[in-house]
Amino acid sequence: MEKLITGIHRFRSQYWGEQKGLYQRLAEHGQFPEALFITCCDSRVVPTLITHGQPGDLFIYRNIGNFVPPYTENVLDGTGVAAAVEYAVVHLHVRDIVVCGHSDCGAMKALHKDRSHFADTPHLAEWLRNGERTLEVVSANYPGMSGEKKFAVTSQENVLVQMENLRTYPVVQEAARKGRLHVHAWFFEIGTGTVFRYSPDVGQYEPISNGEG
Ligand SMILES: [Zn+2]
Repeated sequence: MEKLITGIHRFRSQYWGEQKGLYQRLAEHGQFPEALFITCCDSRVVPTLITHGQPGDLFIYRNIGNFVPPYTENVLDGTGVAAAVEYAVVHLHVRDIVVCGHSDCGAMKALHKDRSHFADTPHLAEWLRNGERTLEVVSANYPGMSGEKKFAVTSQENVLVQMENLRTYPVVQEAARKGRLHVHAWFFEIGTGTVFRYSPDVGQYEPISNGEG
């Protein structure tokens, strides 16, 4: 905790002085983020940092495994993700939605483990059921793959499944139909700092930059 408190002192004494005007404008006019950024809770994935952004740029929603459960008409079964998608699209008028997975994702590794492994964490076990479709895709398309390669492929395929799910949301369909919303599948490779985007034309992920500038 001491590190966090020291960090707040540094934020106030250094960053705040330089960015005061930005914060005052954001406080006065509200937020107008360009994109909804859906990613994993993993501490190594820092959306504003990897996009070299500023406060106010991204409306960020995080959950373990960056899952977007398919749309349900029963609002009682709705999730925080659904609320964030609706708010971002209908009220904030974001132009883009990015779903960003990442390498070495604990959730993606957990999908391949036996359910009994999560007996002491029932909420986590239940939440990971959102990855069942991803597991099906991986076992159907990458039979025999193992180890780190399998985990990386699981993360990447998982993002594509969440993209499909995102497209089941009426507000997403409507905004996309009007041409004012685009959805993007990204993957962040922690060890190289490389961000990949999925190219539907090519059918694979391609680096947005090579991580060296
Ligand atoms: Zn993760």
